[in-house]
Amino acid sequence: MTRNPICSSESIARTSNDLRPELTAFLQQLVRIPSLPNREAPVQEIIAAKLRGLGLEVETLTTRFDELAGHPAFDDDGFAPDSRVNVVARWPGKGGDGRGSLLLNGHVDVVSPGDPALWHDDPWSGNLRDGRIFGRGSCDMKAGVTAGIFAIQALQRLGYRPACDLLLSSVIAEESGGVGALTTIVAGVRADAVVVLEPTNGAICPVQAGALTFRLTVQGRSAHGAMKSEGVSAIAAFLPIFQAIEALDLRRHQNYTNPVYPNPANIAPISIGTIHGGEWHSTVPESLTVEGRCGVFPGESPAQARTLLAATIAEAAAADPWLAAHPPRLEWFEGQFESCATPVDHPLVTALTAAHRQVHGVDPAIEGVPYGADLRLFVNHAGMPGVLYGPGDVRLAHAANESVGVEEVVDAVKVVAGLIVAWCGV
Ligand SMILES: [Zn+2]
Repeated sequence: MTRNPICSSESIARTSNDLRPELTAFLQQLVRIPSLPNREAPVQEIIAAKLRGLGLEVETLTTRFDELAGHPAFDDDGFAPDSRVNVVARWPGKGGDGRGSLLLNGHVDVVSPGDPALWHDDPWSGNLRDGRIFGRGSCDMKAGVTAGIFAIQALQRLGYRPACDLLLSSVIAEESGGVGALTTIVAGVRADAVVVLEPTNGAICPVQAGALTFRLTVQGRSAHGAMKSEGVSAIAAFLPIFQAIEALDLRRHQNYTNPVYPNPANIAPISIGTIHGGEWHSTVPESLTVEGRCGVFPGESPAQARTLLAATIAEAAAADPWLAAHPPRLEWFEGQFESCATPVDHPLVTALTAAHRQVHGVDPAIEGVPYGADLRLFVNHAGMPGVLYGPGDVRLAHAANESVGVEEVVDAVKVVAGLIVAWCGV
Protein backbone atom coordinates (compact mmCIF):
# COMPACT_ATOMS: atom_id res chain seq x y z
CA MET A 1 0.00 0.00 0.00
CA THR A 2 2.97 2.31 0.45
CA ARG A 3 3.97 1.74 -3.18
CA ASN A 4 1.51 4.38 -4.23
CA PRO A 5 1.89 7.65 -2.33
CA ILE A 6 -1.67 8.84 -3.07
CA CYS A 7 -3.05 5.99 -0.98
CA SER A 8 -0.40 5.53 1.68
CA SER A 9 -1.63 4.49 5.11
CA GLU A 10 -0.98 8.08 6.28
CA SER A 11 -3.12 9.64 3.56
CA ILE A 12 -5.87 7.05 4.14
CA ALA A 13 -5.84 7.85 7.86
CA ARG A 14 -6.00 11.60 7.25
CA THR A 15 -8.85 11.36 4.76
CA SER A 16 -10.80 8.93 6.95
CA ASN A 17 -10.48 11.33 9.88
CA ASP A 18 -11.73 14.19 7.67
CA LEU A 19 -14.80 12.12 6.83
CA ARG A 20 -15.71 11.56 10.51
CA PRO A 21 -18.54 14.16 10.70
CA GLU A 22 -20.13 12.95 7.46
CA LEU A 23 -19.75 9.32 8.51
CA THR A 24 -21.33 10.03 11.90
CA ALA A 25 -24.35 11.74 10.34
CA PHE A 26 -24.78 8.93 7.81
CA LEU A 27 -24.68 6.20 10.44
CA GLN A 28 -27.13 8.13 12.63
CA GLN A 29 -29.47 8.43 9.66
CA LEU A 30 -29.36 4.66 9.09
CA VAL A 31 -29.95 3.85 12.78
CA ARG A 32 -33.00 6.13 12.88
CA ILE A 33 -34.80 3.93 10.34
CA PRO A 34 -36.37 0.87 12.02
CA SER A 35 -35.31 -1.68 9.42
CA LEU A 36 -36.98 -4.66 11.03
CA PRO A 37 -37.47 -7.76 8.84
CA ASN A 38 -39.55 -6.99 5.76
CA ARG A 39 -39.18 -3.27 6.44
CA GLU A 40 -35.69 -2.86 5.05
CA ALA A 41 -36.60 -0.97 1.86
CA PRO A 42 -36.31 2.64 3.15
CA VAL A 43 -32.81 2.13 4.55
CA GLN A 44 -31.75 0.36 1.36
CA GLU A 45 -32.91 3.37 -0.67
CA ILE A 46 -30.59 5.62 1.32
CA ILE A 47 -27.68 3.24 0.87
CA ALA A 48 -28.31 2.85 -2.86
CA ALA A 49 -28.49 6.64 -3.28
CA LYS A 50 -25.24 7.08 -1.35
CA LEU A 51 -23.45 4.49 -3.48
CA ARG A 52 -24.79 6.04 -6.70
CA GLY A 53 -23.52 9.38 -5.42
CA LEU A 54 -20.07 7.82 -5.23
CA GLY A 55 -20.35 6.99 -8.93
CA LEU A 56 -20.57 3.23 -8.47
CA GLU A 57 -22.65 0.91 -10.67
CA VAL A 58 -25.60 0.13 -8.42
CA GLU A 59 -28.04 -2.71 -8.94
CA THR A 60 -31.00 -3.67 -6.77
CA LEU A 61 -31.98 -7.32 -6.46
CA THR A 62 -35.37 -8.20 -5.01
CA THR A 63 -35.60 -11.34 -2.89
CA ARG A 64 -38.21 -13.65 -4.39
CA PHE A 65 -38.78 -16.97 -2.70
CA ASP A 66 -39.82 -18.68 -5.93
CA GLU A 67 -36.35 -17.99 -7.33
CA LEU A 68 -34.61 -19.34 -4.22
CA ALA A 69 -36.82 -22.26 -3.26
CA GLY A 70 -34.73 -24.91 -5.03
CA HIS A 71 -31.46 -23.81 -3.43
CA PRO A 72 -30.08 -26.14 -0.72
CA ALA A 73 -29.37 -23.16 1.57
CA PHE A 74 -32.82 -21.60 1.17
CA ASP A 75 -34.48 -20.96 4.50
CA ASP A 76 -38.03 -19.59 4.33
CA ASP A 77 -38.15 -17.01 7.11
CA GLY A 78 -41.90 -16.55 6.82
CA PHE A 79 -41.77 -12.91 5.76
CA ALA A 80 -43.64 -11.94 2.64
CA PRO A 81 -41.14 -10.81 0.05
CA ASP A 82 -42.83 -7.47 -0.60
CA SER A 83 -40.20 -4.88 0.14
CA ARG A 84 -37.06 -6.92 0.36
CA VAL A 85 -34.47 -5.25 -1.76
CA ASN A 86 -30.76 -6.00 -1.79
CA VAL A 87 -28.26 -3.45 -3.05
CA VAL A 88 -25.13 -4.45 -4.95
CA ALA A 89 -22.61 -1.78 -5.97
CA ARG A 90 -19.63 -2.32 -8.20
CA TRP A 91 -16.52 -0.17 -8.52
CA PRO A 92 -15.14 -1.60 -11.75
CA GLY A 93 -11.46 -2.40 -11.83
CA LYS A 94 -9.38 -0.51 -14.39
CA GLY A 95 -7.15 -3.52 -14.96
CA GLY A 96 -3.62 -4.02 -13.76
CA ASP A 97 -1.95 -5.85 -10.91
CA GLY A 98 -4.07 -6.99 -8.01
CA ARG A 99 -4.78 -10.11 -6.03
CA GLY A 100 -8.34 -10.13 -7.28
CA SER A 101 -11.80 -8.76 -6.75
CA LEU A 102 -13.23 -8.15 -3.29
CA LEU A 103 -16.77 -8.09 -1.91
CA LEU A 104 -17.62 -6.07 1.18
CA ASN A 105 -20.89 -7.29 2.64
CA GLY A 106 -23.26 -6.21 5.35
CA HIS A 107 -26.88 -6.59 6.39
CA VAL A 108 -29.33 -3.81 7.23
CA ASP A 109 -32.07 -5.83 8.93
CA VAL A 110 -32.14 -5.55 12.71
CA VAL A 111 -33.71 -7.55 15.51
CA SER A 112 -36.56 -6.18 17.60
CA PRO A 113 -35.51 -3.63 20.22
CA GLY A 114 -37.42 -5.58 22.89
CA ASP A 115 -38.84 -3.71 25.87
CA PRO A 116 -38.37 0.04 25.16
CA ALA A 117 -38.39 0.69 28.93
CA LEU A 118 -34.94 -0.95 29.13
CA TRP A 119 -33.48 1.70 26.81
CA HIS A 120 -32.15 5.03 28.09
CA ASP A 121 -33.34 6.71 24.87
CA ASP A 122 -35.70 5.72 22.11
CA PRO A 123 -34.31 2.51 20.48
CA TRP A 124 -34.21 4.35 17.15
CA SER A 125 -32.71 7.59 18.49
CA GLY A 126 -29.33 7.41 16.78
CA ASN A 127 -28.17 9.69 19.58
CA LEU A 128 -24.47 10.51 19.81
CA ARG A 129 -23.19 10.51 23.36
CA ASP A 130 -19.61 10.25 24.65
CA GLY A 131 -18.42 9.35 21.17
CA ARG A 132 -20.93 6.53 20.76
CA ILE A 133 -23.98 6.22 18.54
CA PHE A 134 -26.92 4.52 20.24
CA GLY A 135 -29.80 2.58 18.74
CA ARG A 136 -30.89 -0.84 17.51
CA GLY A 137 -28.69 -1.84 14.61
CA SER A 138 -25.94 0.66 15.38
CA CYS A 139 -23.44 -2.08 16.18
CA ASP A 140 -25.11 -5.00 14.35
CA MET A 141 -24.41 -3.89 11.77
CA LYS A 142 -25.09 -0.50 10.26
CA ALA A 143 -21.65 0.52 11.54
CA GLY A 144 -20.04 -2.14 9.37
CA VAL A 145 -22.05 -1.16 6.28
CA THR A 146 -21.08 2.48 6.91
CA ALA A 147 -17.40 1.54 7.29
CA GLY A 148 -17.43 -0.24 3.92
CA ILE A 149 -19.08 2.69 2.15
CA PHE A 150 -16.78 5.30 3.67
CA ALA A 151 -13.67 3.23 2.89
CA ILE A 152 -14.70 3.60 -0.77
CA GLN A 153 -15.39 7.31 -0.31
CA ALA A 154 -12.02 7.87 1.36
CA LEU A 155 -10.16 6.13 -1.46
CA GLN A 156 -12.07 8.07 -4.09
CA ARG A 157 -11.03 11.33 -2.43
CA LEU A 158 -7.46 10.18 -2.73
CA GLY A 159 -7.89 9.57 -6.46
CA TYR A 160 -7.53 5.81 -6.08
CA ARG A 161 -8.99 3.43 -8.62
CA PRO A 162 -8.92 -0.32 -8.06
CA ALA A 163 -7.17 -2.58 -10.56
CA CYS A 164 -9.70 -5.36 -9.85
CA ASP A 165 -13.41 -4.98 -9.14
CA LEU A 166 -14.53 -3.90 -5.71
CA LEU A 167 -18.11 -4.83 -4.78
CA LEU A 168 -20.26 -3.84 -1.86
CA SER A 169 -23.51 -5.58 -1.06
CA SER A 170 -26.06 -4.44 1.48
CA VAL A 171 -28.49 -7.26 2.12
CA ILE A 172 -31.67 -7.99 4.05
CA ALA A 173 -32.73 -10.90 6.25
CA GLU A 174 -29.43 -11.94 7.79
CA GLU A 175 -31.01 -12.19 11.22
CA SER A 176 -33.84 -14.36 9.94
CA GLY A 177 -31.80 -16.81 7.89
CA GLY A 178 -29.95 -15.19 5.03
CA VAL A 179 -32.32 -15.02 2.06
CA GLY A 180 -30.85 -11.59 1.18
CA ALA A 181 -27.28 -12.80 0.80
CA LEU A 182 -28.60 -15.91 -0.95
CA THR A 183 -30.43 -13.68 -3.46
CA THR A 184 -27.13 -12.07 -4.46
CA ILE A 185 -25.46 -15.48 -4.73
CA VAL A 186 -28.23 -16.92 -6.92
CA ALA A 187 -28.02 -13.76 -9.06
CA GLY A 188 -24.35 -14.56 -9.65
CA VAL A 189 -22.65 -11.85 -7.59
CA ARG A 190 -19.10 -13.15 -7.05
CA ALA A 191 -15.68 -11.94 -6.00
CA ASP A 192 -12.37 -13.62 -5.24
CA ALA A 193 -12.84 -12.94 -1.51
CA VAL A 194 -15.42 -11.50 0.85
CA VAL A 195 -15.27 -9.52 4.06
CA VAL A 196 -18.53 -9.59 6.02
CA LEU A 197 -18.38 -6.44 8.12
CA GLU A 198 -20.09 -7.88 11.22
CA PRO A 199 -19.08 -6.55 14.64
CA THR A 200 -15.98 -8.52 15.67
CA ASN A 201 -14.28 -5.86 17.75
CA GLY A 202 -11.47 -5.79 15.23
CA ALA A 203 -10.80 -9.54 15.31
CA ILE A 204 -10.52 -11.47 12.06
CA CYS A 205 -12.94 -14.40 12.14
CA PRO A 206 -12.43 -16.91 9.30
CA VAL A 207 -14.31 -19.73 11.03
CA GLN A 208 -17.88 -19.90 12.26
CA ALA A 209 -20.02 -22.60 13.79
CA GLY A 210 -23.48 -23.47 12.49
CA ALA A 211 -26.79 -23.99 14.29
CA LEU A 212 -29.82 -26.22 13.73
CA THR A 213 -33.18 -25.52 15.33
CA PHE A 214 -35.00 -28.54 16.71
CA ARG A 215 -38.17 -29.48 18.53
CA LEU A 216 -38.56 -32.53 20.73
CA THR A 217 -41.93 -33.84 21.86
CA VAL A 218 -42.11 -36.30 24.74
CA GLN A 219 -45.28 -38.19 25.44
CA GLY A 220 -46.59 -39.12 28.90
CA ARG A 221 -49.96 -40.36 30.19
CA SER A 222 -52.31 -38.04 32.00
CA ALA A 223 -53.94 -38.83 35.32
CA HIS A 224 -55.32 -36.88 38.23
CA GLY A 225 -52.42 -35.54 40.26
CA ALA A 226 -53.87 -37.27 43.29
CA MET A 227 -53.58 -40.54 41.38
CA LYS A 228 -50.03 -39.87 40.23
CA SER A 229 -49.07 -43.54 40.10
CA GLU A 230 -51.71 -44.12 37.40
CA GLY A 231 -50.04 -41.66 35.03
CA VAL A 232 -46.63 -41.11 33.40
CA SER A 233 -45.21 -37.63 33.71
CA ALA A 234 -43.82 -36.31 30.42
CA ILE A 235 -41.72 -33.87 32.47
CA ALA A 236 -40.10 -36.64 34.49
CA ALA A 237 -39.61 -38.69 31.31
CA PHE A 238 -37.75 -35.82 29.70
CA LEU A 239 -35.20 -35.38 32.49
CA PRO A 240 -32.89 -38.30 31.52
CA ILE A 241 -33.07 -37.11 27.91
CA PHE A 242 -32.05 -33.64 29.02
CA GLN A 243 -29.11 -35.10 30.95
CA ALA A 244 -28.08 -37.15 27.92
CA ILE A 245 -28.18 -34.03 25.70
CA GLU A 246 -26.07 -32.09 28.21
CA ALA A 247 -23.57 -34.95 28.35
CA LEU A 248 -23.44 -35.06 24.55
CA ASP A 249 -22.74 -31.33 24.43
CA LEU A 250 -19.88 -31.71 26.91
CA ARG A 251 -18.45 -34.76 25.11
CA ARG A 252 -18.61 -33.06 21.72
CA HIS A 253 -16.60 -30.11 23.00
CA GLN A 254 -14.07 -32.37 24.74
CA ASN A 255 -13.52 -34.29 21.51
CA TYR A 256 -13.09 -31.21 19.32
CA THR A 257 -10.05 -29.00 19.16
CA ASN A 258 -9.67 -25.89 17.08
CA PRO A 259 -7.03 -23.41 18.20
CA VAL A 260 -8.83 -20.39 16.71
CA TYR A 261 -11.58 -20.67 19.33
CA PRO A 262 -10.76 -18.74 22.51
CA ASN A 263 -13.19 -20.81 24.63
CA PRO A 264 -12.91 -24.53 23.79
CA ALA A 265 -16.01 -25.27 25.90
CA ASN A 266 -18.24 -22.98 23.82
CA ILE A 267 -17.84 -23.56 20.11
CA ALA A 268 -21.06 -25.16 18.88
CA PRO A 269 -23.30 -25.57 21.94
CA ILE A 270 -26.50 -27.56 22.15
CA SER A 271 -28.89 -25.41 24.14
CA ILE A 272 -32.54 -25.90 25.09
CA GLY A 273 -34.34 -22.60 24.69
CA THR A 274 -37.98 -23.30 25.56
CA ILE A 275 -39.91 -25.91 27.48
CA HIS A 276 -43.68 -26.33 27.53
CA GLY A 277 -45.41 -29.14 29.32
CA GLY A 278 -48.55 -29.99 31.20
CA GLU A 279 -52.03 -28.55 31.23
CA TRP A 280 -52.98 -28.11 34.84
CA HIS A 281 -51.23 -28.12 38.22
CA SER A 282 -53.12 -31.15 39.45
CA THR A 283 -52.82 -33.22 36.29
CA VAL A 284 -49.92 -35.53 35.49
CA PRO A 285 -48.54 -33.97 32.27
CA GLU A 286 -49.27 -35.99 29.16
CA SER A 287 -46.86 -34.19 26.88
CA LEU A 288 -43.85 -31.93 26.88
CA THR A 289 -42.28 -29.98 24.03
CA VAL A 290 -38.85 -28.43 24.09
CA GLU A 291 -37.18 -26.32 21.42
CA GLY A 292 -33.51 -25.71 21.15
CA ARG A 293 -30.52 -25.17 18.93
CA CYS A 294 -27.91 -27.75 18.11
CA GLY A 295 -24.54 -26.30 17.20
CA VAL A 296 -22.59 -27.53 14.15
CA PHE A 297 -18.81 -27.61 14.53
CA PRO A 298 -16.61 -26.23 11.76
CA GLY A 299 -15.81 -29.21 9.56
CA GLU A 300 -18.99 -31.02 10.61
CA SER A 301 -22.00 -31.31 8.32
CA PRO A 302 -25.52 -30.53 9.55
CA ALA A 303 -26.44 -34.16 8.80
CA GLN A 304 -23.69 -35.44 11.12
CA ALA A 305 -24.84 -33.16 13.95
CA ARG A 306 -28.48 -34.19 13.44
CA THR A 307 -27.59 -37.90 13.47
CA LEU A 308 -25.65 -37.56 16.73
CA LEU A 309 -28.42 -35.72 18.56
CA ALA A 310 -31.06 -38.14 17.27
CA ALA A 311 -28.97 -41.17 18.34
CA THR A 312 -28.38 -39.69 21.80
CA ILE A 313 -32.09 -39.12 22.34
CA ALA A 314 -32.94 -42.59 21.02
CA GLU A 315 -30.39 -44.20 23.32
CA ALA A 316 -31.71 -42.37 26.37
CA ALA A 317 -35.26 -43.31 25.43
CA ALA A 318 -34.35 -46.98 24.94
CA ALA A 319 -33.18 -47.15 28.56
CA ASP A 320 -36.66 -46.27 29.83
CA PRO A 321 -39.52 -48.78 29.38
CA TRP A 322 -42.17 -46.07 28.82
CA LEU A 323 -40.05 -44.08 26.36
CA ALA A 324 -38.93 -47.27 24.61
CA ALA A 325 -42.58 -47.95 23.88
CA HIS A 326 -43.38 -44.27 23.21
CA PRO A 327 -40.30 -42.84 21.50
CA PRO A 328 -39.92 -39.04 21.61
CA ARG A 329 -40.42 -37.23 18.32
CA LEU A 330 -37.52 -35.11 17.06
CA GLU A 331 -38.18 -32.48 14.36
CA TRP A 332 -35.83 -30.05 12.66
CA PHE A 333 -37.48 -26.76 11.76
CA GLU A 334 -36.72 -23.17 10.78
CA GLY A 335 -33.03 -22.22 10.79
CA GLN A 336 -30.67 -24.98 9.60
CA PHE A 337 -27.37 -23.17 9.30
CA GLU A 338 -24.11 -24.75 8.26
CA SER A 339 -20.72 -23.97 9.72
CA CYS A 340 -17.93 -22.67 7.50
CA ALA A 341 -14.19 -22.17 7.52
CA THR A 342 -11.63 -20.31 5.46
CA PRO A 343 -8.02 -21.38 6.15
CA VAL A 344 -6.34 -19.07 8.67
CA ASP A 345 -3.33 -18.78 6.35
CA HIS A 346 -5.45 -17.69 3.36
CA PRO A 347 -3.99 -14.60 1.61
CA LEU A 348 -7.12 -12.61 2.54
CA VAL A 349 -6.38 -13.18 6.24
CA THR A 350 -2.75 -12.20 5.69
CA ALA A 351 -3.67 -9.03 3.78
CA LEU A 352 -6.31 -8.00 6.32
CA THR A 353 -3.89 -8.67 9.19
CA ALA A 354 -1.35 -6.34 7.57
CA ALA A 355 -3.99 -3.64 6.97
CA HIS A 356 -5.12 -3.90 10.61
CA ARG A 357 -1.53 -3.68 11.85
CA GLN A 358 -0.95 -0.49 9.79
CA VAL A 359 -3.79 1.21 11.67
CA HIS A 360 -3.56 -0.30 15.15
CA GLY A 361 0.15 -1.04 15.46
CA VAL A 362 -0.53 -4.61 16.57
CA ASP A 363 -1.78 -7.78 14.91
CA PRO A 364 -5.50 -8.51 15.24
CA ALA A 365 -6.82 -11.55 17.06
CA ILE A 366 -7.77 -14.37 14.70
CA GLU A 367 -10.75 -16.16 16.17
CA GLY A 368 -13.53 -18.57 15.40
CA VAL A 369 -17.02 -17.52 16.40
CA PRO A 370 -19.78 -19.72 17.84
CA TYR A 371 -22.62 -17.90 16.08
CA GLY A 372 -23.79 -17.93 12.50
CA ALA A 373 -23.76 -15.17 9.89
CA ASP A 374 -24.13 -14.80 6.14
CA LEU A 375 -20.45 -15.73 5.74
CA ARG A 376 -21.37 -19.43 5.49
CA LEU A 377 -23.45 -18.74 2.36
CA PHE A 378 -20.59 -17.01 0.56
CA VAL A 379 -18.00 -19.62 1.59
CA ASN A 380 -20.09 -22.78 1.12
CA HIS A 381 -22.40 -21.80 -1.73
CA ALA A 382 -20.49 -19.21 -3.76
CA GLY A 383 -16.95 -20.56 -3.45
CA MET A 384 -15.75 -17.28 -1.97
CA PRO A 385 -13.18 -17.46 0.81
CA GLY A 386 -14.04 -14.93 3.48
CA VAL A 387 -13.89 -13.59 6.99
CA LEU A 388 -15.96 -11.63 9.44
CA TYR A 389 -14.26 -8.39 10.40
CA GLY A 390 -15.81 -5.15 11.52
CA PRO A 391 -16.37 -2.42 14.10
CA GLY A 392 -18.38 -2.92 17.27
CA ASP A 393 -18.65 -5.44 20.06
CA VAL A 394 -21.02 -8.33 19.39
CA ARG A 395 -21.89 -8.46 23.11
CA LEU A 396 -23.73 -5.15 22.59
CA ALA A 397 -25.66 -6.50 19.61
CA HIS A 398 -29.27 -7.59 20.17
CA ALA A 399 -29.16 -5.96 23.65
CA ALA A 400 -30.85 -2.87 25.10
CA ASN A 401 -28.85 0.34 24.64
CA GLU A 402 -26.92 -1.12 21.70
CA SER A 403 -24.19 1.27 20.60
CA VAL A 404 -20.99 1.61 18.62
CA GLY A 405 -18.05 3.95 19.08
CA VAL A 406 -17.50 6.40 16.23
CA GLU A 407 -13.71 5.90 16.51
CA GLU A 408 -14.17 2.15 16.02
CA VAL A 409 -16.02 2.84 12.79
CA VAL A 410 -13.40 5.35 11.57
CA ASP A 411 -10.65 2.83 12.38
CA ALA A 412 -12.53 0.19 10.39
CA VAL A 413 -12.72 2.62 7.44
CA LYS A 414 -8.92 2.94 7.54
CA VAL A 415 -8.34 -0.82 7.74
CA VAL A 416 -10.85 -1.69 5.02
CA ALA A 417 -9.47 1.03 2.74
CA GLY A 418 -5.97 -0.35 3.30
CA LEU A 419 -7.20 -3.84 2.50
CA ILE A 420 -8.89 -2.66 -0.71
CA VAL A 421 -5.64 -1.09 -1.94
CA ALA A 422 -3.61 -4.16 -1.00
CA TRP A 423 -6.10 -6.68 -2.41
CA CYS A 424 -7.66 -4.99 -5.43
CA GLY A 425 -4.37 -3.39 -6.46
CA VAL A 426 -3.44 -0.04 -7.88
ZN1 LIG B 1 -25.24 -9.06 12.24
